[in-house]
Amino acid sequence: MIRVGLGFDSHEFEEGKPLLLGGVKIDYPKGLKGHSDGDVLLHAITDALLGAVGEEDIGQLFPDTDEKWKGAGSEVFLKEALRRAKERGFRLINIDCVLITDEPKIAPYKQAIRKRLSELLGLAEENISLKGKRREGFCREEGIACLCVVLLSYEG
Ligand code: MG
Repeated sequence: MIRVGLGFDSHEFEEGKPLLLGGVKIDYPKGLKGHSDGDVLLHAITDALLGAVGEEDIGQLFPDTDEKWKGAGSEVFLKEALRRAKERGFRLINIDCVLITDEPKIAPYKQAIRKRLSELLGLAEENISLKGKRREGFCREEGIACLCVVLLSYEG
């Protein structure tokens, strides 16, 4: 049995906050607004994993009304989603992600992000795809959006 999961997230820019994408610090003057560190890529992957195995979504599991998650490193959310998937007998096969943003450019960071995701997910880099796409006039340039799809197989 295989299961697919889709994750989406978007965050508005915030001046003077560090920008983290996939757990990697990006050299950019603005970060992403959010109760946690605002790592839009890790949030999308987390939601894709949770969706694939029929768990509640990231907002329900880690509510932004809970002080416990204020300023939280998003790696905590990802690790918990992965733990729940494994607990249900699933193994991650591959992930494919799209970051939608004009700035910063994703290409210079692509390898570093894939490497970090590989460590976090216990997945070979060849099974981790990351693409940066410009908005091409769609929506206003006020933040970053991310889509992620994951595939898991049931190992029992
Ligand atoms: Mg988010």
